Amino acid sequence: MPTTSAAVSNLGALDAAHHLHPFSDMGKLNAAGTRIIERAEGCHIYDNHGKRYLDGFAGLWCVNIGYGRREIADAVMRQMNELPYYNTFFGTTTPPTVLLAQKIVSHAGPNINRVFFTGSGSEANDTWLRMARVYWAAVGKPSKKMVIARRNGYHGSTIAGASLGGMKYMHEQGDLPIAGIVHIGEPYWYGEGGDLSPAAFGLKAARELEQMIDELGEDNVAAFVAEPIQGAGGVIVPPEAYWPEIARICKARNILLVMDEVICGFGRTGNWFGFQHFGVEPDLAPIAKGLSSGYLPIGGVMVSDRVGDVLVNEVGDFNHGFTYSGHPVCAAAALENLRIIDEEGLVERVRNDIGPYFAAGLQSLEDHPMVGETQSVGLMGAVQLAESKATRGRFEDRERAGVEVRNHCLANGLVLRATADRMLFSPPLIITRDEVDTMIRTTRAALDAVWAEAKG
Ligand SMILES: *Cc1c(COP(=O)(O)O)cnc(C)c1O
Repeated sequence: MPTTSAAVSNLGALDAAHHLHPFSDMGKLNAAGTRIIERAEGCHIYDNHGKRYLDGFAGLWCVNIGYGRREIADAVMRQMNELPYYNTFFGTTTPPTVLLAQKIVSHAGPNINRVFFTGSGSEANDTWLRMARVYWAAVGKPSKKMVIARRNGYHGSTIAGASLGGMKYMHEQGDLPIAGIVHIGEPYWYGEGGDLSPAAFGLKAARELEQMIDELGEDNVAAFVAEPIQGAGGVIVPPEAYWPEIARICKARNILLVMDEVICGFGRTGNWFGFQHFGVEPDLAPIAKGLSSGYLPIGGVMVSDRVGDVLVNEVGDFNHGFTYSGHPVCAAAALENLRIIDEEGLVERVRNDIGPYFAAGLQSLEDHPMVGETQSVGLMGAVQLAESKATRGRFEDRERAGVEVRNHCLANGLVLRATADRMLFSPPLIITRDEVDTMIRTTRAALDAVWAEAKG
């Protein structure tokens, strides 16, 4: 529908009048006004005043191949003209859907051979939760229903997704989590490690899982779910000892290991999937975001043979699915996206070249009085803000510290995100060394400015 020029010049007012934004205080947002993003190219976005920003966040952790890739638009156009939609419910499928499933599992190792498609990461989390319970019922253990998740984890915004997530501010609205989902602590050494070494703390955090399983009774627990590296929670990279210990516990106690790859998947960590970085293997793995680089919405669950063989051979009908499961146009976009990641060697580039370069840049900020630590894997990184470095002391108003650094960056043409007092980085995988330098330089300038205000 063409908008009138009056309407275009008035977009801000129309937005305030008619559009409810996710995760926003609409009263405050309407008063402050929204930024209108009109176009993008490579690693840069442009607002309606023509101001250019370096997107250090790849949209929302998703634009892995960068903006403006013509190949995706062409693939989408071809598929739109050929077959814009058909369902996969009643014994039918479409070519890009099949090819995409095959392409995804070709990167996931020998034990993962099947994909169930969804429209988003949240739906992917709802999907594996139902799948895990169906699996246990089919193998004669119907009492195994409960799920153990983590505080400060993020698994989406549907009722199940928000319940699996461990965000207190989400649980507070609308009586969450739902029954059957409990949370243990997160492997966040800087914030919660106390006097323990990172290695000792990593083991301790993992062993909370064992204690919780024993408390609930192994026969009542279906699965443990976690992000390989917490994203929205603050890009929290667990100590090395953590994941192997988690995998050991899941195996010993016979519960499914679910790794939420919605952010970590598709090259972000310098491997195809985050679980490969940590050398462990999940039974189920929700995916989305980088799967299509955000060009069109699509998600899914990667299913190991352990679960997949039971689903296929024992369960009969799995009564679950979405109108848009395996949507041919979204699948065509994702397929082209994966082709680009493959052929341009972006995963290897992140692992061997730009990832280490970015890590060195982040580490160069560690001499700043306001930086407590930096962490990164591949092109996913965090700067922990500190009020006093020596004691890992944090600002009294953590939210404010992060927001101020973020706003300084924004004013100087860099988009970053803050989770409380951690600054989060997740740029497109095609980012150049020059652009990394700009990102680090702008961040340092913002730290200088906020530190001067705080201590001045
Ligand atoms: C973004 C995200 C989700 C939710 O995905 P949506 O597409 O927003 O529903 C789930 N898990 C993780 C780890 C995420 O980062």
